[in-house]
Amino acid sequence: AWARGREGVLGPSADLDTGVPTAARVYDVMLNGKDNYAADREIAQASLAVMPELKEIAIHNREMLHRVVRHVAAEEGITQFLDLGSGLPTARNTHEVAQEANAQARVVYVDIDPIVLAHGRAILANDANARVVTADIRQPRSVLDHPDTRELIDFDQPVCVMLCGILHHLLDEEDPQGIVDFLREAVAPGSFFFITNFTRLGDAPESVELERVLLSQLGTGRVRTPAELAQFFTGLELLTPGIVPLPLWRPDAPVTDATSIAARFMTGGVARKP
Ligand code: SAM
Repeated sequence: AWARGREGVLGPSADLDTGVPTAARVYDVMLNGKDNYAADREIAQASLAVMPELKEIAIHNREMLHRVVRHVAAEEGITQFLDLGSGLPTARNTHEVAQEANAQARVVYVDIDPIVLAHGRAILANDANARVVTADIRQPRSVLDHPDTRELIDFDQPVCVMLCGILHHLLDEEDPQGIVDFLREAVAPGSFFFITNFTRLGDAPESVELERVLLSQLGTGRVRTPAELAQFFTGLELLTPGIVPLPLWRPDAPVTDATSIAARFMTGGVARKP
């Protein structure tokens, strides 16, 4: 039920179709990475034409991830992280932040895009406490049962399930709510969920236009309402301050601008399974 990257492949390989854009590589463009191709850059440009703030938004997303992982590892005592839809390795990956807070922290990165495995292998070669798994979260059982996941994660113990910037890449008919429900039931009490998502803004028609561009050109990119996002946290206890624009989640420094589209287009929260 899962795909494995070809053993020994450390760079872009023949099984990576560079002519077809992927979410991982379009996001890489937003973060000024180097692992993207013309087809990815074309969609990135079309998206930036609709919402020029997207690069800033990607940085807000990464910064919230850093604060959340640090909090969950240092303050909540969680040592296991399942980073679903982890994307291409970039500055300060989950395992680096988690291991800074707790040297014993173990991280499994999961992504559908084999380019993530190809690049992740090289980076994680010397870290026994981190793995990259190529799998599809639309088959969540296959993610949890993957031997590399099982090697590092004990599902009888609490785990931090990270769904950062990935649920908007699932269409409604792919049942993101059902996937979150499955994961919530599968993990131990005391586990944490970290979710961020594109958010429909009533005062910003570009949030609707961006969805149109992404769905037509990339095939994914659902911009959900605050109510739809809140639903993902069903059965969980939200940590303060709740589901908020990303810069407002336990900021390290006072936030000067929380009203811009850059601050508000993505919202997210962290919650604990009772
Ligand atoms: N989580 C990282 C972050 O927030 O910085 C990266 C987010 S990136 C926007 C979304 C990632 O989800 C991409 O790398 C994409 O390949 C991955 N993805 C999309 N659909 C997926 C699926 N069904 N299963 C696993 N990964 C998926």
